Amino acid sequence: MSLDGIYDDGNVFALILQGKIPSTKLYEDEHTYAFLDIQPQSKGHSLVISKWSRARNILEVEDEALAQIMATVKKVANATRKALDPDGIHVAQFNGAPAGQTVFHLHVHIVPRWEGQSRNFVAHAQGDFADPATLQALAEEIRAQF
Ligand code: 5GP
Repeated sequence: MSLDGIYDDGNVFALILQGKIPSTKLYEDEHTYAFLDIQPQSKGHSLVISKWSRARNILEVEDEALAQIMATVKKVANATRKALDPDGIHVAQFNGAPAGQTVFHLHVHIVPRWEGQSRNFVAHAQGDFADPATLQALAEEIRAQF
């Protein structure tokens, strides 16, 4: 049951925080890190994680870490709005594999939404990743708005 378990130090977000795999940074402070999703649900889809909490999901996260994460979610959502002018912003967070969780380091999705486009979260094919140069250009646009 994926709601319960031991934090895996080798999970992909832990490796990003350790600098062992690259990511496209949007924002960083002492406690949190925000970066673009590699398989975006829409243009500008980003993720916010705690740098120190080993919570796998919202059921086990420290209140302090959660508050830090959500403060960064607000900052990133505002910068994303200024940069991309979406019609809506979908903030989402999944707990356990049956709910759609695939990475077991608590994270919050920020997904810009536009009128007439899908508002679903779709499962991507493995290996179907966004073009790194496109993500980098998008990150520069969003970073300029903090
Ligand atoms: P979950 O389904 O667990 O809520 O979301 C995990 C998210 O992490 C997915 O949207 C997926 O595209 C993203 N993701 C998985 N691996 C990587 C990676 O190596 N780099 C980045 N930037 N995002 C990733």
